[in-house]
Amino acid sequence: MSKIILTGDRPTGRLHVGHYVGSLKRRVELQNSGEYDAIYIMIADAQALTDNADNPEKVRQNIIEVALDYLSCGLDPARSTLLIQSQIPELTELTFYYMNLVTVSRLQRNPTVKNEIQMRGFQASIPVGFFTYPISQAADITAFKATTVPVGEDQLPMLEQCKEIVHKFNSVYGETLVDPDVMLPSNAACLRLPGIDGKAKMSKSLGNCIYLSDTPEDVRKKVMSMFTDPGHLRVQDPGKVEGNPVFIYLDAFCTDDHFSRYLPEYSCLQEMKEHYMRGGLGDVKVKKFLNNVLQEELDPIRQRRKEFEKDIPGVYEILREGTEKAERVAAATLRDVKHAMKIDYFDDHALIAEQSRKYQ
Ligand code: ATP
Ligand code: MG
Repeated sequence: MSKIILTGDRPTGRLHVGHYVGSLKRRVELQNSGEYDAIYIMIADAQALTDNADNPEKVRQNIIEVALDYLSCGLDPARSTLLIQSQIPELTELTFYYMNLVTVSRLQRNPTVKNEIQMRGFQASIPVGFFTYPISQAADITAFKATTVPVGEDQLPMLEQCKEIVHKFNSVYGETLVDPDVMLPSNAACLRLPGIDGKAKMSKSLGNCIYLSDTPEDVRKKVMSMFTDPGHLRVQDPGKVEGNPVFIYLDAFCTDDHFSRYLPEYSCLQEMKEHYMRGGLGDVKVKKFLNNVLQEELDPIRQRRKEFEKDIPGVYEILREGTEKAERVAAATLRDVKHAMKIDYFDDHALIAEQSRKYQ
């Protein structure tokens, strides 16, 4: 069986380092491994509109930002198909048919949806489109017959819901859809990178992000203002490393090599953590080190971004070509789906013959 990847991001803002460690970096590695037959990377603008219906301009402006972030991280249009969700109507059509296979109470139980409804303060005024976006995500994944979906931990309930739809569809209409597997980051710190404010998740909607396209000075300022252990007031106080975002970021980004380059008095992160927990290591020193580590990772991304920014029409052309290619694949899946559901009337010669016999 072919190995196919589908994943994507909502164009609700520029991409941040949470996206990078949670999904983006892995996608580039998977692309470069050459082990996959096809890789689809989707800019989920239709999904972004489900909670931004009154702000289409935000979505429109961020398409190019996300595309530039993709290209600057190393996604290569010759090897990965970059596409825009709303330009593929087959995805909406699949969503409509899958809606019949999911109950309202099942959607209400989806923990990510529950959490996001609370975060966005929707209370009783939840847009129907937002409530049902897990179904549209199942359409995206299955349209491309994806076998592997590399995402952050917050997407686990979406994948579970998608698998249920696949099983239900296949059991009702016959084996048609491919059952996808989720691929989570192997490093625990990358599963859900916290925000610089210490909130559980760095998220565009929460405004607590370090963006891939931030200037070196912005990154430095954000790192230096980061939330740490509130009980660690003086340098000599013992500090906590668990739940401390500065150390979680180091878990996600730093290697032993970074210590030899920027802070040779420690050989590895564990040594530095032990010093912090004993007392005697100040936050400023840890933050300065984190800043060096982040700048080293982000610098080549910023440089590549500058190159792509010189040819914006070329970037839209990459998206147009990718979207056209992806639509052909989604159209083939939709044909299979309609055939399995027996709603391909004009191609159904047995149906036409049966009906004509009835009326002879
Ligand atoms: P929004 O607030 O608009 O939902 P977001 O920051 O949550 O934006 P998404 O576009 O919803 O970003 O997520 C894109 C991908 O990035 C998903 O695979 C998601 O799991 C992953 N991701 C997002 N935030 C983080 C994070 N803080 N840590 C790890 N992975 C993340
Ligand atoms: Mg999100």
